[in-house]
Amino acid sequence: MTAATDHSTAARALAAAGDSESARDVAALDGAARGVERKLKPARSGLVERLLYGPAPSTAELQAGAALARRIAGSEAAVVDAALGSLARGEAFTADARLSAALRRTVAAEKAFGYTVPAAFGGAGASYGELAAVEEALAGNGLGPLAVEISGQLTIGAGSLLAYGDERQQRIFLPLVAEGRPTAFGLTEVGVGVNAKKVQAYVEQQADGDYRLFAEGPANKLWITNAVHGGLIGIVARLGRQSQQLGLFIVELPAADVALDAVHDYEFRCEPSRVAAFVANFNSRLHFRNFPIPKANRIPADGVEVLFYCLRMGRCMLAAMAAGYQRMLARDASHYARQRIGVGGPVIRHEVPRLNLGRILGGALQSRALAYLSLQQDADGVDLAGLRDLTKSAAAGAGVESMLACEHVLGGRAFHGGSRVNDARVNLHLFGVVEGEDDLILMGMVRDVTQRFVERYLSPLLGVIDAANTARDGGKLPPERRLLRIGPAAIVRHPARALPALLRLVVQPKLWLLGGWVAVNAVADLVRLPLRLLPAGAFARYRALPPLLRRHARYAERKLKMLRWTYLGLGLFYQLELTRAQIPLQRLGKCIEHLVSMLAVCHHAALGDETTREIAALQAQLLRDKYRALRLVSGLRAMQRTRRSVAAVGASLEADRCSLIADIEPQPFGHPWDERPG
Ligand SMILES: Cc1cc2nc3c(=O)[nH]c(=O)nc-3n(C[C@H](O)[C@H](O)[C@H](O)COP(=O)(O)OP(=O)(O)OC[C@H]3O[C@@H](n4cnc5c(N)ncnc54)[C@H](O)[C@@H]3O)c2cc1C
Repeated sequence: MTAATDHSTAARALAAAGDSESARDVAALDGAARGVERKLKPARSGLVERLLYGPAPSTAELQAGAALARRIAGSEAAVVDAALGSLARGEAFTADARLSAALRRTVAAEKAFGYTVPAAFGGAGASYGELAAVEEALAGNGLGPLAVEISGQLTIGAGSLLAYGDERQQRIFLPLVAEGRPTAFGLTEVGVGVNAKKVQAYVEQQADGDYRLFAEGPANKLWITNAVHGGLIGIVARLGRQSQQLGLFIVELPAADVALDAVHDYEFRCEPSRVAAFVANFNSRLHFRNFPIPKANRIPADGVEVLFYCLRMGRCMLAAMAAGYQRMLARDASHYARQRIGVGGPVIRHEVPRLNLGRILGGALQSRALAYLSLQQDADGVDLAGLRDLTKSAAAGAGVESMLACEHVLGGRAFHGGSRVNDARVNLHLFGVVEGEDDLILMGMVRDVTQRFVERYLSPLLGVIDAANTARDGGKLPPERRLLRIGPAAIVRHPARALPALLRLVVQPKLWLLGGWVAVNAVADLVRLPLRLLPAGAFARYRALPPLLRRHARYAERKLKMLRWTYLGLGLFYQLELTRAQIPLQRLGKCIEHLVSMLAVCHHAALGDETTREIAALQAQLLRDKYRALRLVSGLRAMQRTRRSVAAVGASLEADRCSLIADIEPQPFGHPWDERPG
């Protein structure tokens, strides 16, 4: 199935709502995601979907991540000890605070850059779980930038070759990756960010079958981590200037920039991107004109599909790094609070700094619990849709909150130049944007975990509204005249279209299927209601947890199940408008994120010691407070008011008539995308 024909319910809903541009973009991205599903062929449906719609996962499944973390503990020692030795000798960073060649050589000798590459290709043959342990320990000990570099190298770098490269490409390039040749993945361009399918770089095929790559001006590849002269890169480019098809090419970058001259018929430039995050790493802007790529270097796959495939491990590694970073913040902040005398004695004695320290530790535990749970789920062949996105969003969000909490404990020294806490700040902030921006992926997560339910029970509604928006001549009504909801307001305003639509809906056999779902689930919930009077310890399911954590796990599971009603309520209320009602979807995503995190934290700590359980109990309570502050169906009127206000503010900004900022000139952006190729 091609991206163009692979229309998901979401894309059809967008088209029916009259948003054809989003429909096309979403259909294209969904096509790539479906390709990943076909490749991975998950043996079981996703954990988050099962937590909402059943069947409930077993306790063993929920604790499998903690068991993985325990099994692999210590496996990271060789790489991490070597790296820390280099740090202790003062040779890990150069004078301008970048990762040094000496550090890279030291860890390369321990096969760090080929950690998950099979031994047959010169790698260490470790699992992604073991890689996560390395990532966490490096980030936890002041070597976050090395963790970033190795993660990029092995998730989107080697990962793409291992999963999609042919036998020759693996044989030639994987040994280079394993020996430490920096390996990048280049999708983002000056003119294209999150809308990945829109990349403008393209190749032209020559008579001999080889390719020439053009990525000029706005099509320059931008912010490419690990991209450096002499390094390797997987480059995403269109297969022809006007083609809709995206290819992927493995390229060995020249050792220096190349200009057109008597010897060279192509141009290449690799310049620092000047980004002020990942500052210790290579991060570049790449220019290609007529750049030769042998035909054998085309990886036989869609470039965005490969990215999505690799991002699933990238997101787990990001969570492991976030766990490490937060453990480091907790270490340094608690060390300070124990020594520093504040108002009325050492800072550590006071409740608010203790809460801040608890938040940091809780964020670390949450990120770790989700990272290893996701990794074990993936290793067990469970569909990672839902959990991988939630894991990344929760870990990135916790990282930023922990940074703020750390600043409030450490005070001015949190900003001390050269301190590892100060150095962590931008990277932790960036974690919310790279590997998928948090809010976007949370909304995608909601779509993923509700997809089966929507297709089964709510899609008839889509067909009926679509029919109500069809003009007499068979064409579609213009977007401004479309009905997005069939409810009292629509019946009053457009009775001629809304009433017949309502009648058509009532006679839909699938509506009765939904009625059956409602009846069965309502009865099941009612039957279970009296069980709430029993303490959590009365159930074998919760006896697998320490007493301190049982009530939290039970609460999280109960509320997650209730969210299936919340989603139904939102679906029936918003109907087609849900395609553009991002605020409710994002809030629902956050609710799911908080509750799944609670559950993960409790089960992870079940295999931990007393201090870990105490952290888990605090974090579970803090997450519960956050969840309770988010009102969805019960706060629908307030949310609608918020949405109306957001629409008004957004419209004034869109029309550039907001008086509060009218007298301030906007600053020109870095990397403008309207420049001419040159
Ligand atoms: C330090 C660094 C390293 C990076 N490394 C790499 C790399 O190695 N390889 C690579 O290919 N890329 C890399 N990136 C790119 C990164 O993945 C992108 O920054 C990211 O995809 C976002 O693109 P953008 O910044 O152009 O944002 P834009 O695409 O301009 O989006 C701006 C904002 O609008 C939001 N938005 C857009 N559409 C919608 C919508 N429909 N609804 C709601 N919100 C929306 C986005 O979520 C985002 O927050 C890196 C970036 C940085 C800064």
